[in-house]
Amino acid sequence: MTKSPSFETMAIHGGEGERHIGDPVTPAPVLSTTYFTHPDAVGFSATDLKADAPHFYTRWSNPTLDLLEQRLALLEGGEAAVSFASGMAAITGLFSTRLSAGDHLVLADVCYAGVAEYVHHHLPRQGVSVSIVDASNPVEVAAALRPNTRLVHIETPANPILKLTDIAAIAELAHGAGAELSVDSTIATPMGTNPLALGADYVCHSLTKYLCGHGDALGGAVIGARARLDALRKEALIHGGAVLSPFSAYLILRGMETLPLRMEKHQANAAALAAFFESHPAVSRVNWPGLASHPQADLARRQMRNFSGLMSFVVKGDPLVLARRMADSLHTVSYAVSLGKTKTLAFFIGTDDLLRSSYRLTGRPAEAYRAYAGDGVFRVSVGLESIEDIITDFARVLG
Ligand SMILES: *Cc1c(COP(=O)(O)O)cnc(C)c1O
Repeated sequence: MTKSPSFETMAIHGGEGERHIGDPVTPAPVLSTTYFTHPDAVGFSATDLKADAPHFYTRWSNPTLDLLEQRLALLEGGEAAVSFASGMAAITGLFSTRLSAGDHLVLADVCYAGVAEYVHHHLPRQGVSVSIVDASNPVEVAAALRPNTRLVHIETPANPILKLTDIAAIAELAHGAGAELSVDSTIATPMGTNPLALGADYVCHSLTKYLCGHGDALGGAVIGARARLDALRKEALIHGGAVLSPFSAYLILRGMETLPLRMEKHQANAAALAAFFESHPAVSRVNWPGLASHPQADLARRQMRNFSGLMSFVVKGDPLVLARRMADSLHTVSYAVSLGKTKTLAFFIGTDDLLRSSYRLTGRPAEAYRAYAGDGVFRVSVGLESIEDIITDFARVLG
């Protein structure tokens, strides 16, 4: 029996086909939108699409996207993957195929702001009811499940406070109620956590972040069981139309080759930077899953093989004064949104705006968020620069 290749090898070779003398070692992106075909080869309707159909039109399938999807499925230990033009397209595509009028969604109270906004603004119009829960507390999730709950969607670690959710515990609860679990694992990356192995039905990624790693391509993916993803491909991708550009897929595949190396360095830099922030007198709190002070440090160690490079911190003084100083005078670090690229990024996320416009939390859940975030967090995506230079830059603006 041949041993299955290690993660590092799959990040570079996963999904490669047979090799022939004279083949390019690095396959070029296939940019063609259409393919020579034959009246007997494929039906014209996506509903007739067969798994082994030849390429026909790039909105249906494309060799470069196929390679990316196979490699993602291997890295996550899933049967199949479907790529999308962005992480939002992947997640909203999944919601739109799994949820119909009359169904119920359970959503984690802290997650990517765009996902929370989509759920609040769009799903009720489609007749889907929603419960918002603190997914880090399985008792709250259990209490929210109903006979018509079809999907539970969580994000772990959750942006921007790095709160964790116990995937195995929530998978068991969801399945017990006849629902499915989808996990946004963008921040953990497949280096840190494989949600499918813990019982999740779908793992979602914004490929824009660590998987691409260089901040030069948008992309998204859902990974899971083949039969369910075939339906996702037809409904959300072929009909929804948010197809990933093959050129972006090429850039993402190139980035993924160094994912294991990059994640090691992101984690090492994050450990040093989090320790610096924790010891700084101007800082009142640091959120990073690798810290002993993280409120779920045990779960972090159980569920994450790599703690990733995203953290947030809260300051004692006026955060808006510091935010302006950062934007005006950081050198190595860029004051900018997004995460997961080679360059260190920092951005202030005010609590009032986020709770009001994105999460729509009041009362006790809002107070629970404030315990992590105060009036706002500085979210830092630690890059791959020298950690001395990163710390020098932050030390200067923190004073
Ligand atoms: C960025 C991000 C998304 C959305 O991805 P896009 O590629 O920007 O559409 C979703 N979830 C998380 C956790 C993200 O960080």
